[in-house]
Amino acid sequence: MTCLQCKKELSYIDHKNSMDILGVELCDKHFVQLRKLIHKNNTPVEAVQLYYGLKNAGVHPMLEWWDGKKSVDIAISRVKLNIEIDTEYSMITHEQAINDLEEAMHSFKNGFTTIRIPHVVIKYYLKETVNNILGIMEGLKANIKVI
Ligand SMILES: [Zn+2]
Repeated sequence: MTCLQCKKELSYIDHKNSMDILGVELCDKHFVQLRKLIHKNNTPVEAVQLYYGLKNAGVHPMLEWWDGKKSVDIAISRVKLNIEIDTEYSMITHEQAINDLEEAMHSFKNGFTTIRIPHVVIKYYLKETVNNILGIMEGLKANIKVI
């Protein structure tokens, strides 16, 4: 059991705390840091899990990346991909839906692709989610080369 961020050996308590609350293995220092970030941005824990899942797959994602207008849950700058985690997918209102579409439009105009992933998908299919994002990245990379 080591910290995903700094590889420090974890005590039983640190490991349990971090796993219970965030679902990822972090030392006390990185746990506190991440909790601050989450608190500030209202980040879903699934975003944290996906972030580390992607890191583990060799991707360099950014958690809560500020795009100039809003904080994006996860951004992969190399391929200009923004990932938003939807936590209340079944209860989406029409106002929220049109806001999402408008945000997606602004991102596209700036050359960014935004995908929205329901949090339950990360909860139940983390590995598959990561694999799909890797595929999306490949597609985006190919498109960037064409341009
Ligand atoms: Zn650490």
